[in-house]
Amino acid sequence: MENSIAVVLDWDYTLFDTFKMLTALARFFYQNYGIEEKDFWRSYREIRSRGNYDIQFHLDYFSLVENKNIACFRKDYSSYLFADTVWFLRKMRTLQIACLIYSCGVPQFQMEKIVRSGVKGYFKGFVFCKSPDKTEFLPQLSKCFETLFFVDDRLDVLKKINENFPKIRTFWIDREEPNHRERQVFRDLKSIYKEIGG
Ligand SMILES: [Mg+2]
Repeated sequence: MENSIAVVLDWDYTLFDTFKMLTALARFFYQNYGIEEKDFWRSYREIRSRGNYDIQFHLDYFSLVENKNIACFRKDYSSYLFADTVWFLRKMRTLQIACLIYSCGVPQFQMEKIVRSGVKGYFKGFVFCKSPDKTEFLPQLSKCFETLFFVDDRLDVLKKINENFPKIRTFWIDREEPNHRERQVFRDLKSIYKEIGG
């Protein structure tokens, strides 16, 4: 506990370029199953409106069976990591700051992406939740670490943490073209690193 520091990281759109993966998947669905991109995205939105996403739900939606090609697509997700993700995780390791995943999603699919991106070994722990409320496990985590940082691309998630856990320093990451005036936004993990340990 003494001097222990952890950074709690969101997965999708924080460490992992989910849109890039979905775009590749849309192409894959077209090339392998003849499903038009507009139908891919429409069905994606429909699946998301029911809850969290898993490629399996998308296969089920179109009554597709798991085959060699989709297994191949799901074998390696490393090209969808953001360019600074591994760099950041290595820096945290050097600084002896524990990295934890706190992600909203289907645990099995989230773990699939983490493991098959080759970064699982950088994390001390994983928390997966159904709803985007990421405060549930923070009391426990606060007991394990003296200092906690929290990084997420969703401002509503961070606002709730700020309200309930004022001691936790949060970082809002938004890699899109920012036009944010209401509070500080970080464009990438390198700028967050400068705040944490640079
Ligand atoms: Mg996210």
